[in-house]
Amino acid sequence: MTLSLRTSVKYLKGVGPKRAEALARLGIRSVGDLLYHAPHRYLDATTVTPLAKAQVGQDVTCVGRVASTGILPTRRGLRVFRAVLRDQSGPLECAWPGQPFLERQIRKGQLLLVTGPVRYYHGRQLVPREFVILAEDGEGGEPDRGLVLPVYPATEGLTHRQIRALVQQHLDELLPLVNDPHPRSLRTAAGIPELRPALAAVHRPAVPADAEAGRRRLAFDELFDQQLVQARARALAKRGRAGITFTNKKALTTRLKQHLPFELTGDQRQAIREITDDMLAPLRMHRLLMGDVGTGKTVVALFAMLLAVENDYQAAIMAPTELLAEQHVATLSRLLEPLSLKPDLLIGRLSAAEKTAARERIAAGGPRLVVGTHALIQESVQFHRLGLVVIDEQHRFGVEQRAALVEKGDAPDVLLLTATPIPRSLALTLYGDLDVTQLRERPPGRGTVKTALRTETARPKIYEFIRSECAAGRQAYVTYPVIEESERADLKAATVMAGRIAKVFPELAVGLVHGRLRPEERDATMRAFRDRAVQLLVATSVIEVGIDVANATVMLIEHAERFGLAQLHQLRGRVGRGTAPSHCILLSDVPEAAPRLQAFADTTDGFKIAELDLQERGMGELAGARQSGGVPLRYANFATDLPLLEAARRAAGEIIARDPALAQPQHAAYRERIVARYERGFELFRVG
Ligand code: ADP
Ligand code: MG
Repeated sequence: MTLSLRTSVKYLKGVGPKRAEALARLGIRSVGDLLYHAPHRYLDATTVTPLAKAQVGQDVTCVGRVASTGILPTRRGLRVFRAVLRDQSGPLECAWPGQPFLERQIRKGQLLLVTGPVRYYHGRQLVPREFVILAEDGEGGEPDRGLVLPVYPATEGLTHRQIRALVQQHLDELLPLVNDPHPRSLRTAAGIPELRPALAAVHRPAVPADAEAGRRRLAFDELFDQQLVQARARALAKRGRAGITFTNKKALTTRLKQHLPFELTGDQRQAIREITDDMLAPLRMHRLLMGDVGTGKTVVALFAMLLAVENDYQAAIMAPTELLAEQHVATLSRLLEPLSLKPDLLIGRLSAAEKTAARERIAAGGPRLVVGTHALIQESVQFHRLGLVVIDEQHRFGVEQRAALVEKGDAPDVLLLTATPIPRSLALTLYGDLDVTQLRERPPGRGTVKTALRTETARPKIYEFIRSECAAGRQAYVTYPVIEESERADLKAATVMAGRIAKVFPELAVGLVHGRLRPEERDATMRAFRDRAVQLLVATSVIEVGIDVANATVMLIEHAERFGLAQLHQLRGRVGRGTAPSHCILLSDVPEAAPRLQAFADTTDGFKIAELDLQERGMGELAGARQSGGVPLRYANFATDLPLLEAARRAAGEIIARDPALAQPQHAAYRERIVARYERGFELFRVG
């Protein structure tokens, strides 16, 4: 039979039914799957040490002819397979404890590569971690040439060595089956090698750099597919997204600009421009505004809202908590006062009568700016003419909740806000069908936050510092990590901590929030803190994102090493919100954690921290990112492959712009692969 990439692995020599089953467990069903089963790491055995020079205590790679073999029992009853290797420099004994079965594989006369530590046991002895038979008896071979050994993901009943042998055995036969779908021009533009040599390099690199070059090619291809899907989804979404075409009346927006108590930052101005352009266009806006806490997203959103209002539409902003909604009303009221506009508020806490009244006003179209919580998406709420929907802390809402508010209008524009900056690579992947605006710059003149890393010995001094800040009328947070998995233990720890803190600071009112509190209780304590009835807030759960208590100037984080960098960043964002200088103190007695905590202390740029966080956590935890359109990424690494991702995005964008449905014959291979691999593939690329 003729071999193709789709041929079942069963038809390969060396694969019986048992092996086929084991391979299937690794997702390898066709010979193409085997070819794309990439090593997850490599053992660099390129530097070969002459046998005589292998010294006890070293980790070495040696190559030699097998001079003799044998099995020796040890005193403890372990059977040891031994082989003496010989090269021009002399002999060296190799020992494989507990592996007498190697007798059937390693035989006199073979040329063997071994790599592992050298120990002393009745003389020098190499204990191979890995070995490769480079040549059989009588065959030639280069005794001084090493190898890069690929290590494959393995499974029960199939070791990585067996997989390696299988791949090596068939590689030359499989490579010719592969055709590169990319034209040379694309490869040159993206800086990637041809597919066949790339696959060869992945499985049989001469040096480690070869393997990486090969991996980059495979990574490019998967990112490219993903970006083709996204570019297509974006294009279709835009096509089906007729919306309101607002007119730039420059009435309210201009007046707001004139009356702002501060200068907009460059990033804010740019964001307002992008949003305005979106809103003036006939397509519906679907934009994400990403910016750290304190970068001033609300003002940017307000400009968008006023643009809707001056076009006789209503604009609504939905926040995840009542406290945040109240905060928005306060901020907006302050900024809108000179314009004689007042936002209306709809939250669950209002009395039934107040809610009814608010709903009636909203339905009648009285209030043009509406601020609320989930209360806004209840069925009983109807808008008169909703033209813009703003969702604050958008990740705190489910897709349906966001959609529910949007559906209260007739194709309103949508602006999503988030204070959780994510690296650009993730944004391009997770939010491929959104337009993204970043606010990196911080408004000037706000208090700075100094971050200090301290150990337990500094505790008394830290307490004194908190005491003096509070005595000066400031407030402070003390945060504990969730110490136990169980909620009850968590509660106990928090209570104990709060009790301890209260004893240390008898003169202060101490509040406590933790994960076990009902939202109302938590809100009540947070409100008390906001209103300064509580001066010291002890928290185990992450303190409400976005809560703005300008008077709080100290954030003490206990066991800082237990927090992720992104989490630490969120916590630090609770202070430095007023004009007074603020302090974030990381308390940690774990020396190994010091470098990463210090790196955190040294930067305040949320995007940079997000990148560090991504590198630290790797891809493992970022389930959403690993999956894209239902297809897991196998070769790409978001922490390091941003340039590759951008190249893939560019290439994919250009192709979709020229051939939106991938209907042209030279794109048939792309289309085929996407339709086969992506759930939505067929739907997206159905011709027509
Ligand atoms: P966030 O991005 O965290 O939502 P906000 O929109 O709540 O930030 O803004 C935080 C504070 O900074 C508010 O009090 C706001 O009025 C103020 N602010 C926003 N932009 C500027 C600016 N350009 N200059 C000075 N203060 C600003
Ligand atoms: Mg905000």
